[in-house]
Amino acid sequence: MIIKENTDEIENYLSDASNYKGFCDKVFIPEIEDELISTIKECNNSNTRITITGNGTGLTGAKVPEGGILISTEKLNKIISIDTVGKKAVVQGGVLLQYFQDETEKLNLLYPPDPTERNCFIGSTIATNSSGARTYKYGPTRNYVNRLRIVLPDGEVLSLKHGECIADEYELSLTSESGKSYSLKIPEIKMPATKNAAGYYCRSGMDAIDLFIGSEGTLGIITETELKLIDLPGEILSAVLFFNSEDGAFSFLSAVKINKTVQPRSLEFFDKFALQFLKKSFTKIPDSAQAAIWFEQEIDKSFNGIEAEWFNFLDQSNADIENSWFAFDEKNLEEFKDFRHAISWKVNEFITQHGFRKVGTDTAVPDNHFHEFYSFAKNIVEKENINYVAYGHFGNSHLHLNMLPENDEQFIKAKALYYEICKEAVRLDGTVSAEHGIGKMKREYFKLMYNQDEILQMAQLKKTLDPNLILGIGNIFDENIFKMI
Ligand SMILES: Cc1cc2nc3c(=O)[nH]c(=O)nc-3n(C[C@H](O)[C@H](O)[C@H](O)COP(=O)(O)OP(=O)(O)OC[C@H]3O[C@@H](n4cnc5c(N)ncnc54)[C@H](O)[C@@H]3O)c2cc1C
Repeated sequence: MIIKENTDEIENYLSDASNYKGFCDKVFIPEIEDELISTIKECNNSNTRITITGNGTGLTGAKVPEGGILISTEKLNKIISIDTVGKKAVVQGGVLLQYFQDETEKLNLLYPPDPTERNCFIGSTIATNSSGARTYKYGPTRNYVNRLRIVLPDGEVLSLKHGECIADEYELSLTSESGKSYSLKIPEIKMPATKNAAGYYCRSGMDAIDLFIGSEGTLGIITETELKLIDLPGEILSAVLFFNSEDGAFSFLSAVKINKTVQPRSLEFFDKFALQFLKKSFTKIPDSAQAAIWFEQEIDKSFNGIEAEWFNFLDQSNADIENSWFAFDEKNLEEFKDFRHAISWKVNEFITQHGFRKVGTDTAVPDNHFHEFYSFAKNIVEKENINYVAYGHFGNSHLHLNMLPENDEQFIKAKALYYEICKEAVRLDGTVSAEHGIGKMKREYFKLMYNQDEILQMAQLKKTLDPNLILGIGNIFDENIFKMI
């Protein structure tokens, strides 16, 4: 096991892409699962806090330690097997998503989850139930996890296979590999009917594996997983369409969503400020563009009329076809993905340069409320004269509105606006976090979604698995809540 304790060595581990900063005594880097288990057992015996880190691309401070030790999964990074017949793969928690997807694609298989940032670890994407552009067609990471191997906060190992451990209504019994039993009471909460990464997954009669997916490093450490793969689609039709009005882009989105023939796997939106923000790097963005939509359509070999359907569809749309970009080869497809990635990345760069933490929404609402919600969010930010860019996974009615404060006064205002936008999302039956999770930065907004009793039920569940409260403390819950249990 590698142990780092010099300030210079551990500095890089103490923040994530949100620019949230923390501190810790040491960083432990186990090279095999046994080293991880013995470290956890020692920490549990000595009441030493542990935070788990993946590759630090999270946007909520969830991997950032606030004391105790940090455990990095970076050396648990082996692809154990890829089964091309059974279409599944077994990998360790610290495998890089991009590497894994490159390897599966070489075998003509696709692992669909695609958080825009692919420089992240598989274990973390499961811990945050990551999703991305392709979630419009394929759903989030949760849908692709067959099996999990988890080290619990007491050092016991739990192996969970999808479909094998089901709650009796709200009662869930778990048994570790060594035979230790845990009786959990699943919180009786109503989760939003949208993409959601806020708090624990809780339902009557749920599958135990779902509790650990999206638990943000608070219930256990994922050391190994079996993931579901699908056939790699033959070809992709893709374009970045520009619109001379925002309403035009919204009409286009609505038309695609109700269309029975064109069925894109990704449907992503950029507002005019996002386009202006990108213009320096992507000079071909037309000056007249007021909005853009990037889509990807898989071309099924059994139905080759889809291109014609799309061109017909585009002909009838109000997109600025002449100035839009169409992908003609693999290179173009990658360029469009880079274009989408660049907006998220450049916002983070701006925030870091100005020394603030990110103030960007991760809100989703049911489809029928989305336009109303979008207008609400933009209007209140514009009234306060704060610069912003709006973009996101609009196929899933999921908005990233990122404010770009330039001084302390604007930052304080932006935080207040952020709260109002989250409140409105919840009022419309949505979520304050559709994909990034709650971590340490979004706990106050989490309280908009669930009342104190509901949050207490979730905290109680955590305490049953982690009685000494050593793992991922500060994520999802304010520490004070544990004093009430
Ligand atoms: C430019 C940019 C764009 C992004 N776009 C998206 C997007 O479209 N969709 C999306 O979902 N996310 C997105 N993200 C957020 C981020 O990439 C994901 O949340 C990703 O899953 C984090 O992976 P990581 O390895 O960097 O995890 P970290 O940030 O290191 O950790 C994230 C969480 O996972 C926990 N964790 C890590 N490993 C384990 C483990 N083995 N067991 C248990 N818990 C563990 C940590 O404790 C922490 O709570 C984006 C980030 C950036 C910077």
